[in-house]
Amino acid sequence: MATTGRAPVRLSEAEVKHLAQNFQGKSPRELLTWAADKFGDRLTVCSSFQAEGCSIIDMAWRINPKIRVFTIDTGRTPQETYVVVDKIREKYGIEVEVYLPDAAEIEKMVHENGVNLFYKSITNRFMCCDVRKVHPLNNVLTTRNIDAWITGVRRSQAETRSKTAMIDIDKEHGGIIKLNPLAEWTSKDVWDYIKANDVPYNELYDQGFTSIGCWPCTRAIQPGEDERAGRWWWELDAAKECGIIIDPKTAKVTRADSK
Ligand code: SF4
Repeated sequence: MATTGRAPVRLSEAEVKHLAQNFQGKSPRELLTWAADKFGDRLTVCSSFQAEGCSIIDMAWRINPKIRVFTIDTGRTPQETYVVVDKIREKYGIEVEVYLPDAAEIEKMVHENGVNLFYKSITNRFMCCDVRKVHPLNNVLTTRNIDAWITGVRRSQAETRSKTAMIDIDKEHGGIIKLNPLAEWTSKDVWDYIKANDVPYNELYDQGFTSIGCWPCTRAIQPGEDERAGRWWWELDAAKECGIIIDPKTAKVTRADSK
């Protein structure tokens, strides 16, 4: 992705704190409009093409039809997700930057641990998420002229996400800005937006999925289960996180039966 040569933008802790307070209670559109003006083509949407990400792409595209969008293709992605990627490209006429994990790193991991290593232990699962998701993400965010990235995180998705700010400094990636415009939204808000704006969405939602990641690690949920219960469903004591948003190794986990 070529950018215009615009100078990098960094914000101080004090500025971000002030902005986070100002944007509390504001709409996602207001935050995205400010971000488009502030960061220009050094702003990008990071999406795995779940309902939240597709909603954000629609909103951001209405503000800037040339909005940058990228995704990490782990190599274990459901076909239904690829279908949505194509629908988004066609509907909005945007390029989706698709980034892949390092092939040599994948080969080494799979040769040593098997293709379905994640079922054998939490250590293996974290390794797989690191290799297939976190390492490529780190590479993208630090080498692709990005000053601010947008995620689809909502506070109500999980306890691990309950303190998500609308705007934050991403210290893991050189102090760029992380924007979470849907932080205050509920699942209903997202689906109301999708229906009202005819936003393409992953058809797995129509089969009982409420959070969609890699195919071998995602399943539909049962009535009454948490939104992210279908992610790594066999794990009882690990955070339902992969490291892209929150590090599962350090995230606090409270099991339903210990609340
Ligand atoms: S979600 Fe599963 S397949 Fe995907 S990177 Fe993580 S462990 Fe690997």
